[in-house]
Amino acid sequence: MYGDDIASVLITEEQIKAKVDELAELIAKRYPADAPEGDLLLVGVLKGAIFFMTDLAQALQIPTQMEFMAVSSYGSSTNSSGVVRILKDLDKDIAGRNVLIVEDIIDSGLTLSWLKRNLSTRNPASLEVVTLLRKPDALRTHVEVANVGFDIPNEFVVGYGLDYAERYRDLPYIGTLAPKVYTPV
Ligand code: 5GP
Repeated sequence: MYGDDIASVLITEEQIKAKVDELAELIAKRYPADAPEGDLLLVGVLKGAIFFMTDLAQALQIPTQMEFMAVSSYGSSTNSSGVVRILKDLDKDIAGRNVLIVEDIIDSGLTLSWLKRNLSTRNPASLEVVTLLRKPDALRTHVEVANVGFDIPNEFVVGYGLDYAERYRDLPYIGTLAPKVYTPV
């Protein structure tokens, strides 16, 4: 639907579905359905994680609640600086709750590292991270991530929530962009 803007499909819709089910099974095992901390609290990072968050919540088959945060990282669009500003904070107190941060992609890991530090000061009972995608640079940062969907090459990807200039989020797969999209003519 975006003509020839997409250069290649990196991860198909079917592969994403299978991975979401696999991750859900691993995660559900860690959180008893009747935990004294209450329902597992999924914290989605807007906007990129929206599709992953909703698909994961449905696949989990344990009671979960959903909260969203929006953050913006200072720096260029391709290089995050690690200095993060909260655009939308959580609506609820997370003290004493089991919290799972749901991320779309970890690149440098700086945004996540900041987010984890920020949320841990709010005294959750537990704080873990699941990310659908991880790029090689992320391996150099010291953020513990409980579950990773796919390790991908160091390329800019779009689809399944991920955008380029707010476009392509609605693609059901993960793809790479044709250079003409971001090369000025
Ligand atoms: P980090 O702080 O890990 O370097 O940056 C993570 C954020 O950068 C992600 O949440 C996402 O918004 C953005 N990002 C990093 N790599 C990509 C990519 O390949 N495609 C898209 N659309 N966004 C990316």
